[in-house]
Amino acid sequence: MTSGIRLILLGKQGAGKGTQAVRIAQHYSVAHLSTGDLFRAAARGGAPAGLEAIAYMDRGELVPDDLVLRVVREQMLDGGLMDSGFVLDGFPRTLVQASALEEELAISGRPLDIAIDLEVPTEIVLDRIAGRRVCDDCGTTYHLTMPPKVNGVCDVCGGTVSQRDDDTEVAVMRRLELYETATMPILDFYREIDRLDEIDGLGTGDEVFARIVSAIDARLKTED
Ligand code: ADP
Ligand code: ZN
Repeated sequence: MTSGIRLILLGKQGAGKGTQAVRIAQHYSVAHLSTGDLFRAAARGGAPAGLEAIAYMDRGELVPDDLVLRVVREQMLDGGLMDSGFVLDGFPRTLVQASALEEELAISGRPLDIAIDLEVPTEIVLDRIAGRRVCDDCGTTYHLTMPPKVNGVCDVCGGTVSQRDDDTEVAVMRRLELYETATMPILDFYREIDRLDEIDGLGTGDEVFARIVSAIDARLKTED
């Protein structure tokens, strides 16, 4: 059996990771795992891990590595993602998480195909986040300038569309700061193992997606 692509998506808050991750997962028929969505869903369901995580999230702090790793391992190993392929969105976010992922990949015998860094300037992500509205149920993202057809109701699933609790100005500044201090160092890590592709995240969703697909396909070709 040929297994699907193994990809991680990096980029600042508001760079478009969630939107593009869904499209990549569909296009390459692999699972999409968003740690943020996972924690939010767990918290809504009242799961202890979710409730613990949400306390950090609402303040814009990172969820501690051990909790993140526990939840991600469970999802990836139990879900068979190591065999079927994956798009990881929001993980890894620290060097500890990146090396834990490397360990799992080594055990599975197949390396990561590509780490994509979606690049968008800070002043633009601030604007995107300020207007961002998200479906509580399926995570589909909208913007004040691109709202759902019916006000407050998700086009995809009919769920409630609202502003995320951590999209406040204070929490957003903290998340961007943590992106620089905790997450940026892992860009170098993937650059050094020759897995990093930096992709311009400006333009329409279609334009960005086209850039991503050509980067992935170029990687897959050189692996053949
Ligand atoms: P954003 O990328 O805009 O921060 P996410 O939904 O990906 O949105 O993440 C929301 C929050 O969830 C983060 O601010 C953090 O508190 C927590 N989180 C998600 N993934 C991780 C991770 N890999 N490590 C630590 N915390 C995480
Ligand atoms: Zn929805």
